[in-house]
Amino acid sequence: MGHPLATTVAQGHAFKNIIDGKQVEAISGKRMDVVCPSDGLPFGSIAASNADDVDAAVKAACFAFEDGDWSAMSAVDRGRVLLKLADLINQNAAELSALESRDTGKPIKQGIADIAGCARYFEFYGGAADKIHGDTIPIPGDFVALTLREPHGVVAGIIPWNYPAQILGRVAGAGLAMGNALILKPAEDACLSVLRIAELALEAGLPGGAFNVVTGTGMDAGAPLSAHASVDFVTFTGSPPTGTAIQQAAAVNNRGVTMELGGKSPQIVFADADLDAALPVIVNAIIQNGGQTCSAGSRVLIEASIYDKFSHMLAEKFSALVAGPHDADLDLGALISKKQHGLVQGFIDQAQSDGIELLAQGSIAGNAPEGGYYCAPALFGNVPAHSDLAQKEVFGPVLSAFPFKDEAEAITLANDTEFGLVAGIWTKDGARQMRMAKRVRAGQVYVNAYGAGGGIELPFGGFKKSGHGREKGFDGLFHMSTTKTIVFNHA
Ligand code: ADP
Repeated sequence: MGHPLATTVAQGHAFKNIIDGKQVEAISGKRMDVVCPSDGLPFGSIAASNADDVDAAVKAACFAFEDGDWSAMSAVDRGRVLLKLADLINQNAAELSALESRDTGKPIKQGIADIAGCARYFEFYGGAADKIHGDTIPIPGDFVALTLREPHGVVAGIIPWNYPAQILGRVAGAGLAMGNALILKPAEDACLSVLRIAELALEAGLPGGAFNVVTGTGMDAGAPLSAHASVDFVTFTGSPPTGTAIQQAAAVNNRGVTMELGGKSPQIVFADADLDAALPVIVNAIIQNGGQTCSAGSRVLIEASIYDKFSHMLAEKFSALVAGPHDADLDLGALISKKQHGLVQGFIDQAQSDGIELLAQGSIAGNAPEGGYYCAPALFGNVPAHSDLAQKEVFGPVLSAFPFKDEAEAITLANDTEFGLVAGIWTKDGARQMRMAKRVRAGQVYVNAYGAGGGIELPFGGFKKSGHGREKGFDGLFHMSTTKTIVFNHA
């Protein structure tokens, strides 16, 4: 304990919603505790909002979009506001990282990386705001046809607890750059950085109703937001069942959605790979954020001839991993909540009682507070292909290893889950790199690399149950806008 950044978070602070540029309590006056995962103790509170607060936020967003300053602002000026916000986030990075880290339990170094990533989204999308444009289309006759890229209007962003600031960056960066007005509903388990960044957005010059934040539970605040008749588009990152519920709610109004719903991403290691280079990347891809990452590399498929050697290398690394309090800045922090801890531990216990081979397990720091939600990272070997460990998203620091005999079997195993978000391919054979990259069903494929979380510039999203639509990069701008076609008759 005792990282200098840990002291910057005020104890007992009562965080409020941000609606129409003002900090407001929930209309009901209800609040809920903010719990630090490192010790399980409350250290602040947030507004416990319901449909009335959602309605107020949607009204503010409608006004900002239809009548307010935001819709009238030029693309270049919108971009400038976002660049200013990027600067403000960087200037306040120490405070924001500490807030993110305490709120989520992630090590301080991860909090710092997340806030830098958030700022970079606003920088990227601020720079892109005036560089996206339509086409002219040749059609027969005396006509000129052209397209405009127009914002959806009022966009609801329902975001999860694992990377609040980064996911805020990709949703709000792209959404605001295109001129939409937003209502964000962060997860009840982690929303403090989102509230603080929304304040900075006002300071950067964003008109009030263009960026509203409503906190509360999924049922009380998220469900009415996704079903609201004045919301034009919904973007969601989270679990597949909640994604289904949100799509059903939005379908009642026939509104569009983007869904980023997690994965069971494979790392495929061939015998000719540079194993020393692969090892730290593969370990990090499951340990980062305690494995609570949609794109975590949670399966490692190893060519049979090196299975014993490479699983032994992985086991050595896993045995040395230590989980501890966020401000001790160790390999991984606590999991987000008691509920998540129970789910992850349940997978580990079930695998052990099913006789799946536990190759190695890390440890929990001796000074970790009793009430924290710590989980020792676990590596399982020879995992049966149809077990829960092989098929389900654990969303914790659990890596499953599988041997394969050739490329065909590697592809079968890699594609044999309901998900398809990210894949890593480790081989020096150039032709095989391309064959594998084309055949693996995943929205992002890394060759001799693995970007858990992907880059800001890279389109990101899934195949199959991992969702649809794309975020990040220029694709994020396309999904936050729609095409209007205009035809002039000049006969
Ligand atoms: P978890 O179960 O790990 O909390 P979810 O995918 O359910 O993950 O949560 C992601 C986000 O979705 C959170 O902001 C949460 O409050 C919200 N949410 C949960 N249930 C619903 C729902 N039925 N409708 C809308 N939003 C929801």
